[in-house]
Amino acid sequence: MSKRRAVLLLRERFRSSFFAHHRDRRTSIHRPRAVDSPHCSSAATYSSSRSRASPRPAMEAALAHNGLWSSGASEKNKAMVEQLQRYGVIKSAKVAEVMEAIDRGLFVPPGASPYFDSPMAIGYNATISAPHMHAACLELLEDHLQPGMRALDVGSGTGYLTACFALMVGPEGRAVGVEHIPELVASSTENIKKSAADPQLKDGSLSIHIADGREGWPELAPYDCIHVGAAAPQIPEALIEQLKPGGRMVIPVGTVFQELKVVDKKLDGTVSVRDETSVRYVPLTSKDAQLHSN
Ligand code: SAH
Repeated sequence: MSKRRAVLLLRERFRSSFFAHHRDRRTSIHRPRAVDSPHCSSAATYSSSRSRASPRPAMEAALAHNGLWSSGASEKNKAMVEQLQRYGVIKSAKVAEVMEAIDRGLFVPPGASPYFDSPMAIGYNATISAPHMHAACLELLEDHLQPGMRALDVGSGTGYLTACFALMVGPEGRAVGVEHIPELVASSTENIKKSAADPQLKDGSLSIHIADGREGWPELAPYDCIHVGAAAPQIPEALIEQLKPGGRMVIPVGTVFQELKVVDKKLDGTVSVRDETSVRYVPLTSKDAQLHSN
């Protein structure tokens, strides 16, 4: 079979799994890809990354935590990250290091395939995002996740991305997750405890709170970085207010058709918004609406 034909067949296969996943998956326009599918080459278009080669000491400690490098799971997680690098979704060395340090397998419910590039159900009509979406958001936010900075993760779900944020901002920064399903806050806390971000949960530089994320988390505002993991009908005013001048928010906006928006607040306080890509996220809504959306 020719290489071109193989690529087309793989694309078709992933297209089917993409649509078969309906109900509680979050999808972007990028096709889900398995880490072991070297022929699938559809390109993602993220462009705002910077490469920073040397890990900080806190990062090195995190990598060593729990012997992450010695388990089979760690190898598969590493292979997933390398695949995302090959496809150009991950360009930054720092993003790659963080995604290697935080083993996605610890955040995905038992029975699921944690290293497959697809969103997965986590209960309560919610999903963990596909690895390429996590990677893309980390790339977009990297400059606003520098050591000592403050990051807010609205709709923190499994806690995966909040844990990545914590490693990026380090113990001298703050990573705050807000999630309105108490059971997910409890399970995400347990997930994080098993991960390389556990020391930051203990030292208080990482915390997850039960709250309506549409109101943000004013106690620790302003934030250098805000990520919203669920699609809002419009950008919530409270989140714009809680963004620091010079800060960036990444938020999916829309209902049937959604765009991932990049919101930059300039130092003079003016705000610019641009569309990054078309996406499909679960809604940012009330707890009741989410739980009864079947
Ligand atoms: N980034 C998470 C995404 C989880 S899915 C992950 O990859 O694990 C989106 C999450 O947003 C769900 O957990 C859902 O419960 C939560 N959510 C939806 N509306 C919310 C709201 N108003 N306040 C807080 N969390 C909300």
